[in-house]
Amino acid sequence: MTGAGHPSGQTMRIVTCNGAPPMMKHLTIAMLGLATITGCEHVATPTAKEPTAATQPTQPTAAVEAVEAVGVTGATDYKSFTDAQWKQRLTPGQYYILRQEGTEPPFRNAYHDNKITGDYHCAADDTLLFHSTEKYDSHTGWPSFWQPATAKSVKDVPDADGSRVEVECATCHGHLGHVFTDGPQPTGLRYCMNSGAMKFVPK
Ligand SMILES: [Zn+2]
Repeated sequence: MTGAGHPSGQTMRIVTCNGAPPMMKHLTIAMLGLATITGCEHVATPTAKEPTAATQPTQPTAAVEAVEAVGVTGATDYKSFTDAQWKQRLTPGQYYILRQEGTEPPFRNAYHDNKITGDYHCAADDTLLFHSTEKYDSHTGWPSFWQPATAKSVKDVPDADGSRVEVECATCHGHLGHVFTDGPQPTGLRYCMNSGAMKFVPK
């Protein structure tokens, strides 16, 4: 269902983190509540339904079919996705967060107070990101976790100015949120996520 034009090698995104530096060394002591609100009024849809657009061109290509078939394996070359392809794959709220590094409003998002047992997946590619067993109430209004589901779930990318550490989906490099060092033990980390970048799958 993800219609697309022609795949091109162009990518609008620059990934600034190529290695895998120890995250702790790059973390700056963060003050509570410094996550900025950008003023966007988008509240991402909390549904687990796959994003489909009602007005998409019906011109399936082999590349699109491959994307659908590959799914969560990570073999899809998401870096080659054009903006148009992302807009067709994601809802406006998901696109704003995942592709434009947007931040949803605190407390007015789907999962900040979700206490149901289950897993949180990337809204773009279904990568497993977090378990509910590592979720805690940070009182920030955003869903918070003290560690990712696996070592390969997310990627930490320090901001250019060193003020914060961005958290991306390791598969599609979509923006998920930020990680801070004021979290609970045993890690002391607070993965401050946007609900709209994730899909919750109850167990
Ligand atoms: Zn992803």
